[in-house]
Amino acid sequence: MLKTKRMSIVPTFVCTLRCRLCSNHMPEFEHPPKASAEEMMADIDALFALFDHIEWLQFVGGEIFTHRGLDEVFDYCRRYDARFDRLIVETNATVLPTEAELRSLLSYGGKLKVMISDYGELSKARDAFVDVCEKNGIEYVLKRYHGDPESQHFGGWIDNTACRDLLEPDDYVTRQAAQCAQVRLENMHVFRGKLHRCSNSLFLSELGVCVPNRGDFVDLHDGTPPEEQREIIRRFYEYPRKSCHYCTWKSGDSAERFGAAEQERRA
Ligand code: SF4
Repeated sequence: MLKTKRMSIVPTFVCTLRCRLCSNHMPEFEHPPKASAEEMMADIDALFALFDHIEWLQFVGGEIFTHRGLDEVFDYCRRYDARFDRLIVETNATVLPTEAELRSLLSYGGKLKVMISDYGELSKARDAFVDVCEKNGIEYVLKRYHGDPESQHFGGWIDNTACRDLLEPDDYVTRQAAQCAQVRLENMHVFRGKLHRCSNSLFLSELGVCVPNRGDFVDLHDGTPPEEQREIIRRFYEYPRKSCHYCTWKSGDSAERFGAAEQERRA
């Protein structure tokens, strides 16, 4: 029996914002890639061939609603309806879903939860999105990321932009990574067939600055026997991975906080 608490599908690295301290490193991608609906549906099939149950099936970007073709993917998830508890969409509320995406999302009713990172004036579609949720009885969360940094969600952002081995002692990395929030939530991320144990591992790998070790991720479509893939996944959180040596999130409780979403100028 294989389960996870969180499974984040990444439709796109394209974002409407260009945040200086983006923890997912989005501004670093010169040509941000996106997954086709067909690639995401193939990943969803592969995931549910491996996992018996997923608590939260999440869609996380980039800004997911720049994709404009997620209705087909949201609809596709319904065939696994009994195998996941909640459908979660994360957005910066700069752009609303298309009508077709909204129709598909609303069909999930109480199973749907919308997580809005509220960047104040930048989140131009926030009020419209909240209105849709309230009118349709959809649960939503507004994560406040504007105003005084101390009043922001979790006290603001952590600077995770070094993108290099921080050369910290192994015992420190082991101790801290074991209590990282991504580990506690088993927040796996998948993009174009590559399943990683956390967002940082995925995004640093895609950026090419941290080449993952064998066993740090699973290629869902490389023909490895399913039981072998399940065994790698079962061990995902047993010890820190290469990306943990590049990551400041592991020091989350004590790390310095900064105001969120300061915008970089586009080159
Ligand atoms: S790289 Fe390691 S420490 Fe950083 S978020 Fe992922 S699991 Fe946590």
